[in-house]
Amino acid sequence: MNPGDITIGILGGGQLAKMSAQAGRKMGFNIKVLDPTPNCPASAVAEHIIGSYRDSDSIISFASCCDIITFDLEHVEIFPLKTLEDKKRIIPSPKVLEIIQNKLLQRKTLKNARLPVPEFREITHKEELTELLPVVQKSVRGGYDGRGTVILRNPEDLSKALDEPSFVEEFLDLEKELGVIVARNEKGDIAVYEVVEMVFHPEGNLLDYLFCPASISEDVRKEAKELAIEAVRALDGVGLFGVELFLDKKGKLYINEIAPRPHNSGHYTIEACYTSQFEQHIRVVTGLPLGATTLMKPCAMFNLLGEEGYTGKPIYEGLERVLAIPGVSLHIYGKAKTFPLRKMGHVTILGDTLEEVFQKMAEAKRLLKVKGEIKL
Ligand code: ADP
Repeated sequence: MNPGDITIGILGGGQLAKMSAQAGRKMGFNIKVLDPTPNCPASAVAEHIIGSYRDSDSIISFASCCDIITFDLEHVEIFPLKTLEDKKRIIPSPKVLEIIQNKLLQRKTLKNARLPVPEFREITHKEELTELLPVVQKSVRGGYDGRGTVILRNPEDLSKALDEPSFVEEFLDLEKELGVIVARNEKGDIAVYEVVEMVFHPEGNLLDYLFCPASISEDVRKEAKELAIEAVRALDGVGLFGVELFLDKKGKLYINEIAPRPHNSGHYTIEACYTSQFEQHIRVVTGLPLGATTLMKPCAMFNLLGEEGYTGKPIYEGLERVLAIPGVSLHIYGKAKTFPLRKMGHVTILGDTLEEVFQKMAEAKRLLKVKGEIKL
């Protein structure tokens, strides 16, 4: 194989595509991205074709100049991909994307494989919700970063109920939220990463920070990894997947959802593991052997979110002082505009112990701010 003869096309040009493209370029592959936004993050490191990943013609013409098609996001138009499937290597497959795009079908697929998921049921009318409280309502399609998920605890919350095709599930008493990155190739080989513990931002429902290894028992760690692998097998998934799990207060694990692409919860792997999730993504889509997932150091990662009260061109405050802390790595995605809670970058912190990592993280979070040229 000569990587210089192979072009990997990524649908979507956000930060995930940017980091996959960086890993792919490192290995000598050509990378193209399809994204409607001029100057999207991946355009800094890949050839950018301006067009929509929701438009059949754009996808078909993009695919004609690529050898392999993969994704930065799951919400793409599936139909053209199905027509291309015999001619192109598409990883993950349109069938897997179709299941994942539909959260209800995803839940049913996992349940049919006898994997533990929260109890769920379809609803047809909002009125049905009153009798089910407290309950979590999720839209069938388009949910992302907490949009499309509402927790309805009491009758007053019913005004927040979603008015779109949705299902409801039991409101779990959560102890922790965990994440596991899994790669699986067409031979069925598996590479699984260490379990991370995720802590969510109280307002935006966005990941606030995570650390690895998670502070859980060996039994839970083993089971979380096994469930993540089984979830990917249940989809017959080939590619790189981020699996989110819940651990409830009784110690029971549930699979929440699967992302068919590199995941925010795997960014730490760039600095902390032998093979990053992005290099693993490139390896699996190109059919190269999967890399070792060994965690080299305890670590944490936090998202650099746009500060409340600012928009416009971003202004990064505190970079010099944060980068003076040993073991801190900064990633700025290069988005032209900030707005409150927008993911503008992330920071990874390595240390000899988690205690040391947390001390450094507290300092880094205090110092680093993404403000903007325009005050809201
Ligand atoms: P999204 O795909 O939009 O991120 P999630 O399904 O991950 O949506 O839900 C967002 C957050 O809502 C989760 O991280 C969790 O904190 C909470 N949540 C989701 N489902 C449940 C549930 N069944 N019980 C309790 N909390 C939940």
